Parts: sequence; C-alpha cells; structure tokens
Amino acid sequence: MKKKVGVLRIFTGGMGGGKTHAALSDANDRKHKLREKVLVIQPGVSVRAGIDGEGETKARSSVAAESNIVPYDNPFEALRLAKDKVNLVTIVDSHMFVSGPIAAVVYGLLNDGRDVNLDCLEFDYGGEIFPVLQALIHSGTSILYHYRQCDCQKPGEEPIGRYNQLIVNTPFKRKRELLELLRAKSEPDPKLIYLVENGTVDPKTGLILPAYFGSTNVTGDVAKDLNTDDVVSDKVSYVTRCRECFVRPKNLSVYLK
Ligand SMILES: [Zn+2]
Repeated sequence: MKKKVGVLRIFTGGMGGGKTHAALSDANDRKHKLREKVLVIQPGVSVRAGIDGEGETKARSSVAAESNIVPYDNPFEALRLAKDKVNLVTIVDSHMFVSGPIAAVVYGLLNDGRDVNLDCLEFDYGGEIFPVLQALIHSGTSILYHYRQCDCQKPGEEPIGRYNQLIVNTPFKRKRELLELLRAKSEPDPKLIYLVENGTVDPKTGLILPAYFGSTNVTGDVAKDLNTDDVVSDKVSYVTRCRECFVRPKNLSVYLK
C-alpha cells in the first residue's frame, strides 16, 4: 500500500494581516469539528513575545491554542511530539526558526502522513523573502496570503501591505544623539548600535530606517501610530507598507559574506 503523504498549507503575508489567526482557526476547526488530533509548535526564544507582549501562542485576535515550544535552532523534537496519531501540525512563526532544520521537520512530518499548517511571514524587513518560505513554497498545496492595509489605502480597499518596514522612532536628524544614548546604556546592544549607525532616512516619516544585514529578527512592536514627535527614542516598530511605499534599507549583508 502506498504511504499517505501529508498536505502542506502555507499561511503567509505581512505582519498583523491575520495569518496566524487563520492558521490557528483552521487547527481549532479540525480539532473541534472534525475531532482530529492537532499539535501547535512555536519557536523557543520567540520574538512574538516581544512583539505582542504576550508569552503564549496567540494571534492578534481571540484565537488561542495550546502550544509546544521547541528550540528555534533545533526543532526536531516536533517529529517526536507528532508521532502519536497527530493529524495536523501547525507551526507558528516558522520564519523565526533556523530555516534548514525547520524545512527538514516539515518534510519529515509530511512524509509521516501529517498535514502541516505553516504560519510564516513573507518578507523580512529588508524586503527579502524568508528562507524557510523559499524552501517550502513550491511544496504547498495551497498558499493563503493575508495582508493588512498600507496607510496609502482608503478604508475598504483590499489590503496590499505585504512588506514590514522596520523604523527606529527617532528623527534621522537626531541620529547622533540616539547613538550616544545607546552607547551610554549599562548593557549596550551592539547589533542595534550597528543598525542605527548605518541607518538611513525614511522619506515618509523622516525617522531612522535601520540598516539591514541579512534575514534576521529584530524585536519591535507593530506600530499603530509612529512617534513622529521630535524625540530621541530607542524604540523600534514595524509598519505595514505596500510595494510602492516600502523603502529598502541600506543593505550591509553584501559586506558580511
Ligand atoms: Zn502604500
């Protein structure tokens, strides 16, 4: 008899577009309506905790699910957890895992006959597709895009904000003062200092666009309103932008290869 292979569904898009909500809703439906056994996996050291101010796996909505935390750089525990007659494995924030191991886990699960719901951001703040999505996108049976509106859109228009723009909440003209503040901290963050040092100006807000040095997670909140007051702040925020409005930050990754 031919072995059954699982179905991969990919929930992707921008921040705050509702992809995690959709992936977890689907898992909840299968659990409660179809009485299937589902498993939710999330990366340990999840940046979501920083983004949401919440520790549990919870989309920015009311759907919550019991989840299992596996190390972001060694997620193979998920294969063991899924052994016990699990029908569906939902992987939340899959872009935060190291891409090779999590892609291997997904293929392992599918080969074992488990269905997989993959929740994954589409682009990092440099406008590059996340490697895990690049590795799996051609294997997905269905790819469901979830976007938020860009601020250039009118209410009611179909959301097209697929990019996540990372912004430091300090006007570019006060960059030097911010660097002084960052360096004077009791525990300076060398990564943030480097990103700000090489930052450019955001033409839409006049704030600092931190530099980019490859696909990486930078913890920040999802901004509702950017602070455009003339203050020096080390707060970093993500804003949703469409292709037209997104500004590519200065790319340093070429120097690091
Ligand atoms: Zn726009």
